[in-house]
Amino acid sequence: MVTQVERDDMTWYSCEGCGLMFDNRDDAKRHEEHCNAEEPTYIQ
Ligand SMILES: [Zn+2]
Repeated sequence: MVTQVERDDMTWYSCEGCGLMFDNRDDAKRHEEHCNAEEPTYIQ
């Protein structure tokens, strides 16, 4: 799930699974579709 975050007068979109943040909602959604949060292979 992508959550919207307000920070520094900007809106960010955060992947709830792994915590990655995007400044573009489409990028966040695209990431989420491929996110492997249940089997983390990388840590930010
Ligand atoms: Zn993710």
